[in-house]
Amino acid sequence: MSKSIHVKRLPKDPGPAAWNSILPAATEYPQLNDDISADWVVVGGGFTGLAAARRLSQLVGDESIVLLEANNLADGPAGRNSGFMIDLPHDLNSETYAGAHEQDLQQIRLNRAAIDFARDMAQEYGMSREVFDPCGKVTAAGSSRGEEHIESYRKHLETLGETYKLMNTSEMKDWTGTEFYRQGLFTPGAVMIQPAAFVREAAQGLSSQVVFFEKSPVIGIETGEVHRLNTPNGSVRAKNVILAVNGHIQSFGFFPRQLLHVFTYASMTRALSSTEIKQLGGVSDWGVLPADPMGTTVRRSSDFMGSGHRVVVRNHATLNQNMEVTERNLRNAAKLQDRSFARRFPMLKGVDIEHRWGGRLCLSWNSMPAFGEVEQRIWSAACQNGLGTVKGTLSGMMAAEQAVLGQSDLLSEFLEHQAPSKLPPEPFLSLGANMSMKWKEWQAGIEL
Ligand SMILES: Cc1cc2nc3c(=O)[nH]c(=O)nc-3n(C[C@H](O)[C@H](O)[C@H](O)COP(=O)(O)OP(=O)(O)OC[C@H]3O[C@@H](n4cnc5c(N)ncnc54)[C@H](O)[C@@H]3O)c2cc1C
Repeated sequence: MSKSIHVKRLPKDPGPAAWNSILPAATEYPQLNDDISADWVVVGGGFTGLAAARRLSQLVGDESIVLLEANNLADGPAGRNSGFMIDLPHDLNSETYAGAHEQDLQQIRLNRAAIDFARDMAQEYGMSREVFDPCGKVTAAGSSRGEEHIESYRKHLETLGETYKLMNTSEMKDWTGTEFYRQGLFTPGAVMIQPAAFVREAAQGLSSQVVFFEKSPVIGIETGEVHRLNTPNGSVRAKNVILAVNGHIQSFGFFPRQLLHVFTYASMTRALSSTEIKQLGGVSDWGVLPADPMGTTVRRSSDFMGSGHRVVVRNHATLNQNMEVTERNLRNAAKLQDRSFARRFPMLKGVDIEHRWGGRLCLSWNSMPAFGEVEQRIWSAACQNGLGTVKGTLSGMMAAEQAVLGQSDLLSEFLEHQAPSKLPPEPFLSLGANMSMKWKEWQAGIEL
């Protein structure tokens, strides 16, 4: 039976996608201004959409694939994140990162399959080390509370049989330049990306097999034997559709009352002068994840294609179930980030923050993805639970495999998840979640 789906909301991304704005002008893809047909349509050009498009191109390379992005590629959350592709379990909802053993091992296998998939893309499309760097990751502590988290994480890694290396205060200082960090824990399996450059280069690489349209939001779908996806100035008729829109899957009417729309925020300095780079010290590219899950992520990035040497701090989270942030959210985040920056980089006092922004995450109460065939031949690959560089890549690959192959070994393993659970009713949900996140931020102390 055919059905008309009206898309209730389109994405609004607060502030600039700074990782994208500091790069030279991007390749522009056209807007959809015609009525066209394709075998496959992927909606959304983040990590999930790109992975789905690439996996489709591998599986059904002789069929036509169109990708529709509401805004510009790399301007959405995929181009505005901190760029940690993490192989190990790292649950935003957990206090200690620790969880059940078997589940963790499975998550690691799946995450690594996704990272390998991204690595193949990086190799095939000639991405440089500044764009895709398999350098591992460091979780860092600046307080005794942070050190306790590191100790619990370390024990957890021991039980999983994972390799790691502890870094002491002076090693952290030599590496980062700041005396803020007391301890670090290095694990080798993660990759650090320049997120916007990764998205741009992945799209460029795929563009010989996939037709991209930017500024072409899907505003409605008429389902049928052949679906029709409407954008403001055109439409695509296609038999098969993959919705890779993360939390906006709810705007299409799917997974009602099952998704948490969380925003997190970041600030990026202007390009540092050569004197400031010397004052800062340390190596020219590094990044740390906070030992306390509510703490501050920091990245120091060197000049890439004229972008300049910069420091980026990310922290703060708010639940905004209407998928839009307020001016107040942005002001609060800026205040917290100025404090976090000053704590870590007293030697950069007076360096202006050039860019501030927020970005959407989609989580579920039980940390499960919003995945599967939601209408006949319409698949959802959404709700990446905050770690979309890897989980988005995975769910995009899996949606393509489910749609084309029906089954595969990796898919069977991936499908061993439950549906996202139902959320408590409003206003209790938003009040409770925002208060609880504030409380956890306060508890994080100087890790924030
Ligand atoms: C500041 C910040 C730091 C982060 N750090 C990390 C990190 O270090 N590591 C990590 O793994 N994750 C991180 N994340 C999370 C990560 O960015 C997301 O999980 C990831 O982008 C999700 O990927 P996705 O492709 O599923 O969704 P998105 O990247 O949100 O892509 C979905 C796309 O769909 C498009 N879209 C939506 N509706 C429509 C429509 N109607 N028509 C057409 N297109 C539509 C959107 O414009 C968007 O481009 C961070 C996020 C933020 C904001």
